[in-house]
Amino acid sequence: PLVLGIETSCDETGIGIVRGRTLLSNTIASSMDEHARYGGVVPEVAARAHLEALEPAIEAALAESGVTLTDLDAVAVTSGPGLAGALMVGIGAAKALAVSLGKPLYAVNHLVGHIAADILDPDAPPLEYPTVALLVSGGHTSLLLVRDLTTDIELLGETMDDAAGEAFDKVARLLGLPYPGGPEIDRAAASGDPAAIRFPRGLSRASDLAQHRYDFSFSGLKTAVARWIEQRRAAGEEVPVADVAAAFREAVVDVLVTKALAACKDHGVPRLLLGGGVIANRRLRDIALERAEAAGVTVRIPPLSLCTDNGAMIAALASELVMSGRAPSTLEFGADSTLPVTEIQVAEAEEV
Ligand code: ATP
Ligand code: MG
Ligand code: FE
Repeated sequence: PLVLGIETSCDETGIGIVRGRTLLSNTIASSMDEHARYGGVVPEVAARAHLEALEPAIEAALAESGVTLTDLDAVAVTSGPGLAGALMVGIGAAKALAVSLGKPLYAVNHLVGHIAADILDPDAPPLEYPTVALLVSGGHTSLLLVRDLTTDIELLGETMDDAAGEAFDKVARLLGLPYPGGPEIDRAAASGDPAAIRFPRGLSRASDLAQHRYDFSFSGLKTAVARWIEQRRAAGEEVPVADVAAAFREAVVDVLVTKALAACKDHGVPRLLLGGGVIANRRLRDIALERAEAAGVTVRIPPLSLCTDNGAMIAALASELVMSGRAPSTLEFGADSTLPVTEIQVAEAEEV
């Protein structure tokens, strides 16, 4: 099926067009620059930017893929989770498009979309089930057991406080690096020594593991970094930015990979899929690949351009739903800013 996907859950206006599992176009307009001076995404600014960016983004995606609106078999849209106002802009546009074209509409979960990005990788063999999935983004850090992308996703664990991406953004700010912090920390860490400082690994003690084997916590780590920097400054010493960045990144990556591989082992699943914007982190990809190989686990990493928010992953998920014969969504849905990852599609119509 030929599917156009609309993604507006945060600060990226993403329009993607896929045919089956083939990516035809992936247009992204970001309002990141407008938020940078506030040190984070401002919801009203994001919503207005989506409103302005949507139409040109759709035009560009159609032009790039050489298809017209009437060629489409379905329209897909992110219904949540995300910023309510931002989501509503995309939902409104998707409903208008689907109704005016007389095409089925699929309202899907943004987080599952991050996982679905994987199936667009032209070089990867078909996805096998079950697979453990590690989802690390700006707002979420979750370990999932995916038995089927379109029907059965189990939440094994998630962060108890900050998301990993959020931790990167906050620590970047502590170090005086600009927003978004992930890429900045990655860059600064390149010349640092990850072993220079030992920062804590959240929820990793034996006593924590009993209750929170697959859960994460990054706020203690952030506080530890803040305190370490403070002490340095109080002593009149310079803060070694590269070393702090490298040691912090190592702590995050270590706990993410350790817990993901524990889930693989416990469930007897030799497959690990990575998804979400933080997967852009070099060290995370390297350590995951290295330790997984030693553990006999195959790692799948979507193309980097599909790891951060985009419309193609939304179209890809809807395409899977169409191919597995699922009914489209009714128009009876709105933005759900806290949609759980287990809800793959919302407002699915009764089979007719
Ligand atoms: P969610 O998907 O949970 O709603 P989101 O859509 O805002 O959140 P993504 O766009 O998937 O999140 O990812 C953005 C996050 O990824 C930001 O926190 C950013 O700092 C982080 N990030 C981007 N590149 C890197 C990197 N190289 N290393 C670490 N983090 C990174
Ligand atoms: Mg974003
Ligand atoms: Fe996202």
